[in-house]
Amino acid sequence: MNSQYDMVFYPQDLEYAPGDLNELLSNLKTAGFIGDSFAVPSSHKKTEQQGYLIGEDFLKLITFLGCSPHIELTPSEQKTDGGNFCYIEILQFQKPKYFKGLNHPKCSCPQCKSRVTKALPELEQWIPDSQWVSCPKCRQNTLTENLNWRHSTGFGQFFIVVHSIYPNEAVPTDKLMNLLRSVSHKDWDYFYYEQ
Ligand SMILES: [Zn+2]
Repeated sequence: MNSQYDMVFYPQDLEYAPGDLNELLSNLKTAGFIGDSFAVPSSHKKTEQQGYLIGEDFLKLITFLGCSPHIELTPSEQKTDGGNFCYIEILQFQKPKYFKGLNHPKCSCPQCKSRVTKALPELEQWIPDSQWVSCPKCRQNTLTENLNWRHSTGFGQFFIVVHSIYPNEAVPTDKLMNLLRSVSHKDWDYFYYEQ
């Protein structure tokens, strides 16, 4: 079950982690975003991960662009790799980390909107509140995590991963972003991940 493309939601607060994860999950379930939990079969991970089936209102909370989404909404027993099975996974870390999104992230200066991709520091070495990027055009200094990442990467310690969504294939509805805000009291953003 090694999906190539995912859509990842993250709060706009590097330090955020839910005070009560079960309560947050329960709220996401009541709202129909996530469904029942299951053990993600995995050949490449040593420990078994817990995943969540999509909830009954998932397709009202995420808008698929184009005519028909090429996703599978239930796991396939027949396929050893799970195919393009769409499920949700919660990732929580002890401290904020850089979560690589697209292989070629697009990011721009929040002040003048110029591309700053070439001025970026080594992202694998990222630590919070420490790496300033100077805009080549307007000279504005911005923390790496505060650049406009345009849905191409993320930073934080709590992530909600929706597996098997292709970049730009789907976008969240306002209803979903409001739901995430109401369960966490934080604003959220999202990005696309590609392997
Ligand atoms: Zn600028």
